[in-house]
Amino acid sequence: MAQQEDVFKKIVAHAKEYGFVFPSSEIYDGLSAVYDYGQNGVELKNNIKRYWWEAMTLLHENIVGIDSAIFMHPTIWKASGHVDAFNDPLIDNRDSKKRYRADVLIEDHIAKIDEKIDKEVEKARKRFGDSFDEEMFKQTNQRVVDYIKHREAVHTRFSEAMNANDLEGLRNIIIDEEIVDPISGTRNWTDVRQFNLMFSTEMGSTADGSMTVYLRPETAQGIFVNYLNVQKTGRMRIPFGIAQIGKAFRNEIVARQFIFRMREFEQMEMQFFVRPGDEMRWFAYWKEWRLRWHKALGLGDEKYRYHDHEKLAHYANAATDIEFQMPFGFKEVEGIHSRTDFDLSQHEKYSGKKIQYFDPELNASYTPYVIETSIGVDRMFLSVLCSSYEEQALEGGDSRVVLHLPAALAPTKCAVMPLVRKDGLPEKAREIVDELKFDFTTHYDEKDSIGKRYRRQDAVGTPYCITVDHQTLEDNTVTLRERDSMEQIRVNINDLHALIHDKVSLNSLLRKLK
Ligand code: ATP
Repeated sequence: MAQQEDVFKKIVAHAKEYGFVFPSSEIYDGLSAVYDYGQNGVELKNNIKRYWWEAMTLLHENIVGIDSAIFMHPTIWKASGHVDAFNDPLIDNRDSKKRYRADVLIEDHIAKIDEKIDKEVEKARKRFGDSFDEEMFKQTNQRVVDYIKHREAVHTRFSEAMNANDLEGLRNIIIDEEIVDPISGTRNWTDVRQFNLMFSTEMGSTADGSMTVYLRPETAQGIFVNYLNVQKTGRMRIPFGIAQIGKAFRNEIVARQFIFRMREFEQMEMQFFVRPGDEMRWFAYWKEWRLRWHKALGLGDEKYRYHDHEKLAHYANAATDIEFQMPFGFKEVEGIHSRTDFDLSQHEKYSGKKIQYFDPELNASYTPYVIETSIGVDRMFLSVLCSSYEEQALEGGDSRVVLHLPAALAPTKCAVMPLVRKDGLPEKAREIVDELKFDFTTHYDEKDSIGKRYRRQDAVGTPYCITVDHQTLEDNTVTLRERDSMEQIRVNINDLHALIHDKVSLNSLLRKLK
């Protein structure tokens, strides 16, 4: 674990050193849980967004996009339930003066019990070898039986307290389980209070005439309130979807783990409108399809898992998360929810406008049901970055840091380098750049030794380096070096485009989703 934390620290440092992610307002000592994307970060982020957008809108003829405003009528957040219920239970430790989410403290505590169970199981598995029967062991080993019983008891109390919004109940669990503050090590806890996560501001110039508006905490509501506009103007027929990418804001109580939990972040959300009664079929479809989208990137199938929700949000009748193995454990990257007709019905109620769909096949009107897929751009970015980072020992005692980014997502697709800065090689290299730049992000680099230049490109994940040497002037060939294998082949300049395109284009990646 400690080793993983070290790796994570290195990734964060690497992200800064190579222009991927900077702390916001750094020269003013930063702003907590807000980050800026640098010259490489913005390219990687844009590529992630394009991959999502095109997978949704190009590959599905019944999905269209919108771009709604961040400010919306405040009643929207009343209708959606965010004003009253978008809360986290917070608790303070009087000694460390640190603030925590009470539910997270308890979840972490449960995870620790799980770890103890896993440890016992692994120990026994080693001891018994092939004949090991895990289920039998869990039922008969007294220590493990006790752990499981304890875990279940805590979990039941926790679910009940969360479902009933019982803040005192949450606090009692923290006290009874003797959960300590990881910083002060004490149990000197305050009461648990509700904390609304929405940021608010004033719109309008005078004190009298202004009204409180919110920075949207999710992009989804912008889709719901435009449902009628899009359905009518696009003459959309159910089932159909509306996709949107945009900023969202949450005043997170504990902002941790770099860009995993930010106060300003970006979401890619798609709401898919279906007939009531059809929602489970579509929920299953999107659950499978979204995982396929992730796996097509080739980051490793074993790094993903579903986490089906036991406790459902008030609007959902099914929900699952796609979790990714980050250096700090399996964590949610995307949520897939069956939201019933909750949102559209609420907006119908609060706006007084009829929000229904006339289904010509059924010759009847109804409020559509909704399946939502919601993924954080920044979390996706983090998962790509973490799983791509490698410190590699090379033959001859050398080493390199390489980002094995999926080629279609890499900020720069190829770098063109003259071997030396004379004899017409730079001019030839420039010619190649001028040709390739229309299709690929291409860099020209002539500084330092060729080895150093390769390392620089490895560190930002550039899939191809093209080296121009004296032979190039004679036979129009160059060296094409591939990032991961470091293999170098001699190819004709005229073949470069096709060779590179095949590997780095978004098109090739999208085709994997067929
Ligand atoms: P969590 O339980 O981690 O707070 P959530 O369940 O509240 O997340 P959703 O409301 O389902 O998250 O939002 C959908 C997606 O938006 C998440 O899967 C995540 O990728 C992203 N997201 C949510 N909150 C943040 C945040 N504070 N910073 C970055 N990304 C976020």
